[in-house]
Amino acid sequence: MSSSSDESAARLPIIEYALQPAILVAVMWFWLSDPTNPLVYPLVLAAVHVLLGGIEYWRPARPDWLQPAREKVLNVVLVVILTIGVGIVAGWYDAVLREPLANLRSTLNLDVWPHEWPLLAQVFLVFFASEFIWYWVHRAEHRWALVWRVSGHGAHHSFKKLGALNFGLNHPLEFFFLVAPSALVELLFGVGIAAAGATILGVVQASIAHSNIRLNSRVIGWLFTTNEYHIHHHSVVLEESNTNYGCSAIVWDRLFGTFEPGVTLETGTGPTEPTLWQKTLMPFREPEDTAIAP
Ligand SMILES: [Zn+2]
Repeated sequence: MSSSSDESAARLPIIEYALQPAILVAVMWFWLSDPTNPLVYPLVLAAVHVLLGGIEYWRPARPDWLQPAREKVLNVVLVVILTIGVGIVAGWYDAVLREPLANLRSTLNLDVWPHEWPLLAQVFLVFFASEFIWYWVHRAEHRWALVWRVSGHGAHHSFKKLGALNFGLNHPLEFFFLVAPSALVELLFGVGIAAAGATILGVVQASIAHSNIRLNSRVIGWLFTTNEYHIHHHSVVLEESNTNYGCSAIVWDRLFGTFEPGVTLETGTGPTEPTLWQKTLMPFREPEDTAIAP
């Protein structure tokens, strides 16, 4: 009885239907107003997380997932440090791959990027192309034990409570896997500034996909991942975690037969959440109670 009244208390249709599309429109509009400004990325990230964090606190979809202040502060600090790490890996890929991939582009006659398209259309093209590669990378992480271990992907799955900040709580080894798809698309096709917009779109989408807010998936969920789909991927039940590999775009799961909507009762790698140290060691030592490792 009390759980159903809790549920009805958390419902607010305007947020359920409009929050995700409104954030995406606002973020893209803001980026388009000054696409070459590097400050847009941190500003958008901070603003989106203040908004999502506020709504999670105000109307959490699962009140039992609300974190104590200390845990929340630790997660904010971790996400800031780890996001800087992702930026360093992205810079390293750029330095190492830009020239060889530009040479490959001219050798293979791949100078086909539609630079004449409106910028927003190019952003969506990079976004869905990068998500196509990420779909297969992510599927490989869940398919083969070696890839699971080397990427440290288990660390990202090990949380028993999810919130928007979980988008950035990844093992440092996984940075190389997370950044590779967009770096490949950007540098192989010589995309240009649209790649920055696609990165922002992807990170905002991944943040919403982890959020502890009741959202409706009906319309936006045809193309974009919603938290209903992504939290299902975080399920502690193996069959459920082997679905919905697209963390930002869900369309590839729909096309390749891995899409599954549904209620998720429990997340994590097993019945207990590993400590931060155990998460860090996951590429070398899997927790004994893991239920979803390949
Ligand atoms: Zn996963």
